[in-house]
Amino acid sequence: MAGEPQADCLFCKIVAGEVPATVVRETPTTVAFRDINPQAPTHVLVIPRVHYPDAASLAAAEPAVAADVLREAAQVAAEDKVDAGGYRVVFNTGAGAGQTVFHAHAHVLGGRGLQWPPG
Ligand code: C5P
Repeated sequence: MAGEPQADCLFCKIVAGEVPATVVRETPTTVAFRDINPQAPTHVLVIPRVHYPDAASLAAAEPAVAADVLREAAQVAAEDKVDAGGYRVVFNTGAGAGQTVFHAHAHVLGGRGLQWPPG
């Protein structure tokens, strides 16, 4: 069923505590943890506890939870003190855009200069 945990999903396993992660924030609807392969001094993933394959399907099915993800992204940036210098929130959507884990997630990147357009 939409939103239910998927047995083969790495991020569902992180939500369940079955795979370790460096968790920095938790709410009733979201978990935020440091990316295992950081691309910036701050690189945190904010994920919904519910399983949807990407941000678009999450927003369509559970817009309040999608808003929670965005709110938590801002909280992460503030707690890591990268908000004043500018930070980026990225939702890679689809393999062609570099998405490798098909459980919706926001990348929060900051703490260094960020180029535009991204590669
Ligand atoms: O947008 P994309 O799907 O490629 O992002 C997945 C991210 O999950 C990658 O940045 C990867 O480093 C991260 N990851 C992680 N912990 C894992 C596996 C992947 O932080 N155990």
